[in-house]
Amino acid sequence: MIEQSRKLLQKYFGYSSFKAGQAKVIGALLEGSDTLAIMPTGAGKSVCYQLPSLIYPGVTLVVSPLIALMKDQVDGMSASGVPATFINSSLPGAEVSRRLKQAGQGEFKLVYVAPERLEMPDFQEMARSVEISLVAVDEAHCISQWGHDFRPSYRKIAGFIQSLPQRPVLGAFTATATREIRGDIVKFLDLREPHVFVSGFDRENLYFEVIRGVNKKDFVLDYVRSNREQPGIIYAATRREVDSVYELLRGRGYLCGRYHAGMRAKEREASQEAFIHDQVTVMVATNAFGMGIDKSNVRYVLHYNMPKNIEAYYQEAGRAGRDGEPGECILLFGVQDILLQKYLINETVYAPNRKANEYQKLQQMIDYCYTTNCLRRYILEYFGEQEIPAECNRCGNCSGDSELVDITVEAQMVLSCVVRVKERYGAGMIADILKGSKNKRLLRLGFNRLSTYGLMNSYTIPQIKELINLLVAEGYLALAGGEYPVVKLGPKGVRLLKEGGVVWQRRRKKKKVPPSDALFEKMRLLRKEIAAREGIPPYIIFSDSTLRELTEKLPQDREAMLQVKGVGQVKMERFGEDFLQLIKDHLG
Ligand code: ADP
Ligand code: MG
Repeated sequence: MIEQSRKLLQKYFGYSSFKAGQAKVIGALLEGSDTLAIMPTGAGKSVCYQLPSLIYPGVTLVVSPLIALMKDQVDGMSASGVPATFINSSLPGAEVSRRLKQAGQGEFKLVYVAPERLEMPDFQEMARSVEISLVAVDEAHCISQWGHDFRPSYRKIAGFIQSLPQRPVLGAFTATATREIRGDIVKFLDLREPHVFVSGFDRENLYFEVIRGVNKKDFVLDYVRSNREQPGIIYAATRREVDSVYELLRGRGYLCGRYHAGMRAKEREASQEAFIHDQVTVMVATNAFGMGIDKSNVRYVLHYNMPKNIEAYYQEAGRAGRDGEPGECILLFGVQDILLQKYLINETVYAPNRKANEYQKLQQMIDYCYTTNCLRRYILEYFGEQEIPAECNRCGNCSGDSELVDITVEAQMVLSCVVRVKERYGAGMIADILKGSKNKRLLRLGFNRLSTYGLMNSYTIPQIKELINLLVAEGYLALAGGEYPVVKLGPKGVRLLKEGGVVWQRRRKKKKVPPSDALFEKMRLLRKEIAAREGIPPYIIFSDSTLRELTEKLPQDREAMLQVKGVGQVKMERFGEDFLQLIKDHLG
């Protein structure tokens, strides 16, 4: 069976081997076992149900929460020659009827639907008239109230399945690995003795880094400038922050889009489309953006703020490098992020035990930002992955991409200023004193007569504040009090003043993603042209990694081209000649 799967994988998807976990999940589904597959974003869950759908005699029903995702997947499958369709509320009634009729006649191998559809009588009638071999429930965590994506209609799936004349095999798929949610999926989907797989959490091609104590805006500008041609996502915690980063980049002439819940649906959709079609390179967004969007050539994901927990972070960061090419995931940490996340948890209507759970997860996220050990290992251990690589060398804490800078003198200036004002003022006042500002309140309090007044006048106020944040993050200073916290000495700060010592800051060495070569650029243009002509997103034609391999192997005939990862027979027929011609022209 697995042999046959491998052949189909090559033929329809153009991949010569399975990714971690795929073969096991497919094997279990083909044996007829209910299966719960917990694999991170980008691990390739879709293939786990798309491939069995080719082998099973009847229809595979895919339940999925998002319309954008369906169209994408159906386009992808159709381009590979698999009869597939979706039925959802974006279609006019007549089209729905047409598709239902076709589906009832068994014309599709794959039918994608939103969960609400399962409750509609005309759909149920169709479902009873055709053989359904497999029901794949994608984003299965939506069934649980523990997650943030709860969809009540997911709870109706089990009932729908019970109403079918024959019970199909059930596959549930999610990237969310928490124990509570795992339990809910098994319970509410009524999975029967399911095989449970937790795999593929390591994303080898991704580089992880946490950067603390920098001016975030400067960092973003610098980063986007160095990676100008690369598509990337910048996540920020609030709409306001999204708007401000967006305006900043816009103001410097970068092609960027934005996405948050405060925009009208039309605007959001247009923005998303522009990003998918490579018309804008940078997307600045809240966490509302990205669920189910399979844009495979995202080269970096910057977090402008720390997210609320590791699950959220890894899901968002995991949108980089889905094509297997290198991607960078950088989290810009600031202490205000902690205050914001605590505030957000506090504002929820969760029951006390749920709140405690959220605070604990937040603390684990904060620990990720503070740890000096391997970041990859930290994440993999968090998710309970069995196979953890010994050496990473691809995170900011393991690799030589960051350097330690001695900031002892600056630290001492800040600490002594905190002591001079008797640990009774906030970061803003400390920064004003060190800067030597003429702020009225400062003058009234006589702080212009302190020995630390103006000691750091060659720095900007934001730079001094960042330094304070860094010292808080490292435990030299501590923040006390709610909304307007007072800066106090932390345990390490007391020791530094008493016994001396050296304060280090980890700073990132500047580096660039290697520039694309000319042929690669030509291929991207060709792909964009074909995409416009066919009305599908460029990455559905060929992913960046396929283009990259084409530029390396330079195939000159069909056989050679079919050897390239991502080139299946159907895509070869449809798009192959254009690319072969381009290579010929390039070689002259
Ligand atoms: P998930 O749903 O788990 O987030 P997807 O199913 O969207 O992930 O797949 C992520 C990417 O991996 C897609 O670009 C897909 O084409 C690619 N992919 C899937 N299976 C393989 C494979 N066996 N070899 C190489 N790439 C694969
Ligand atoms: Mg998916």
